[in-house]
Amino acid sequence: ETSIVWLRDDLRLDDNPALSRAVELGLPLTVVYILDEESDGIRPLGGAARWWLHHSLTSLSADLAKAGSALTLRRGPAERVIRKLAEETGARHILWNRRYGGPERALDAEIKAWSAENGLDAESFQANLLFEPWTITTGSGGPYKVFTPFWRACTASGEPRAPLPAPSHLPSPGTGSRAARSDTLADWRLLPVSPDWSAGLARTWEPGEAGAHHRLDDFLDGPAEEYGNGRDVPGVEGTSRLSPHLRFGEISPFRVWHEIRLRFPREETPDVGIFRSELGWREFCWQLLYANPQLATRNYRPEFDRFEWQEPTPAELKAWQQGRTGYPLVDAGMRQLWQTGWMHNRVRMAAASFLVKNLLADWRLGEAWFWDTLVDADAASNPANWQWVAGSGADASPYFRIFNPVTQSKKFDAEGRYLREFIPELAPLNRKAIHEPWKQPDLEGYPAPVVGLPESRERALATYQKLKDQK
Ligand code: FAD
Repeated sequence: ETSIVWLRDDLRLDDNPALSRAVELGLPLTVVYILDEESDGIRPLGGAARWWLHHSLTSLSADLAKAGSALTLRRGPAERVIRKLAEETGARHILWNRRYGGPERALDAEIKAWSAENGLDAESFQANLLFEPWTITTGSGGPYKVFTPFWRACTASGEPRAPLPAPSHLPSPGTGSRAARSDTLADWRLLPVSPDWSAGLARTWEPGEAGAHHRLDDFLDGPAEEYGNGRDVPGVEGTSRLSPHLRFGEISPFRVWHEIRLRFPREETPDVGIFRSELGWREFCWQLLYANPQLATRNYRPEFDRFEWQEPTPAELKAWQQGRTGYPLVDAGMRQLWQTGWMHNRVRMAAASFLVKNLLADWRLGEAWFWDTLVDADAASNPANWQWVAGSGADASPYFRIFNPVTQSKKFDAEGRYLREFIPELAPLNRKAIHEPWKQPDLEGYPAPVVGLPESRERALATYQKLKDQK
């Protein structure tokens, strides 16, 4: 008899209930990660996420080895791989931590059913969300559509459980014919080659569990206390930058929650409360995806199906993707994204608004670009936030609220620090001139605006009015 722990979006030893259960069982243990790009409806990872995954698995593999275990890598449709692995290793127990996307849940249910039919015991655990989506419902039993009451209901439902310690020792893998064969990571070709665009990502991030804990410690030692103001300023490190670590489950939200409690025991400073509610937005996005598995492809508000998005010209789309729209805040953000795989939240909102409002492009185009380029690209948060900006989402920013990239830039990057970091062409301009470079006739090397702000704004509002008139 042996057991299998199937790791997915939980690439960690700390607070990993499936692994802790395997320790309790004490049977020879196979820990597997499956690269599944074939099962129905599973969305293949984007390029930046593949880079991250490679490094995260490298780190996990070393951590498992230190604890006396090993990481088995397999590729293929997960159901087939799990069946085969169970056969090869003589497993009687299959353990995993839950995930919440539609196709992923369907797959897990199939494997559970197959296990039951074949006398295997499949057990799943809560590890990646503080509040299980089906436990947080409105008075009439449905999912919440608005964040504030959702989060109130979450926090009123009780304190999230304490995180489980990382096991210092894991059961060793099976031996002889029971040992599982593993692919090598290099075979999966997750890293970019010709061109290798990953140097900026490597400079910025430390994928893996240790890197996640370093980020949390740095945040708690520094920006956490000033988070309420600091989080809006893209030119300083005012946020935690935990998003890719949370995305891959290198740190558990229970651990983050718990460490904040320990560090700020007297509570509830406004800054800590705001940070917690940002974790709440992550929960909200996941419960939206849970209730709406098509969140990445369908308007949450169906009336937006009639919205007359315009196909951007190839030149416009390229200008946006490459950070050459002529609007410094949008361009700095898009270049930060390309260089580091991450963009500051305030700038994400401005860059997204520019695409869906000033260029009038369908939000799905932007969602797809972010999916490919963000290291934190997340099946729930990415579409939910795009729909929030587009006005088609739950509790969304109304469509007529159009971010002005110049006003935003003057307000949140008054000194132009962020702009200078990512747009070297603008470095010669002073703090006043840098936000509106088209007013500088001598400036070279920086593009003129792809669209005018007042007229593109009017066009967006007129298109929205048309939608409303059709009601
Ligand atoms: P912090 O400010 O330190 O917040 C802590 C954590 O709270 C984050 O790590 C994240 O897990 C969560 N969080 C914060 N804001 C949000 C939010 N608005 N929605 C959901 N969770 C949130 N976030 C992703 O994790 N993945 C995405 O694919 C993603 N796509 C986005 C697309 C657009 C158009 C926009 C406007 C936002 C998107 N976000 C996404 C949300 C947000 O920008 C990032 O979570 C945040 O910038 C990550 O930086 P941080 O870890 O320093 O955040």
